[in-house]
Amino acid sequence: MGDRWRIEVDRGVCIGSGMCVSTAPGGFRLDGARQSHPVETEADASEAVLAAAEGCPVEAIAIRLSETGEQVFPPTSSSAGRRPPEQRPPRLDLRPSPRTAISVWRPRGCAPRSSG
Ligand code: SF4
Repeated sequence: MGDRWRIEVDRGVCIGSGMCVSTAPGGFRLDGARQSHPVETEADASEAVLAAAEGCPVEAIAIRLSETGEQVFPPTSSSAGRRPPEQRPPRLDLRPSPRTAISVWRPRGCAPRSSG
């Protein structure tokens, strides 16, 4: 029999992006307040659940081995089963783009008004 995992979501950290639900629809669900919950707090080890934890933009998902409590994710220096960095999905940069903040749409040929 394979490993069993204990899956937790820190709802004080979760921003409700829904990425975990997209990555592991059988592992997570969002409640009415857009907070993520594991579908089952204890489940068989799953590549999709690990990918969801790795892809969470705020690292709100923690996974431990049910039997020993050993931390699977986020990885510690001694944890087994962690992925090398080149296999991890990229983190999202959720900061607003400076270009988005200052860009103003104008129709073609319409110059900004000059004052005076
Ligand atoms: S990916 Fe992370 S922040 Fe987004 S809903 Fe899931 S737990 Fe919350």
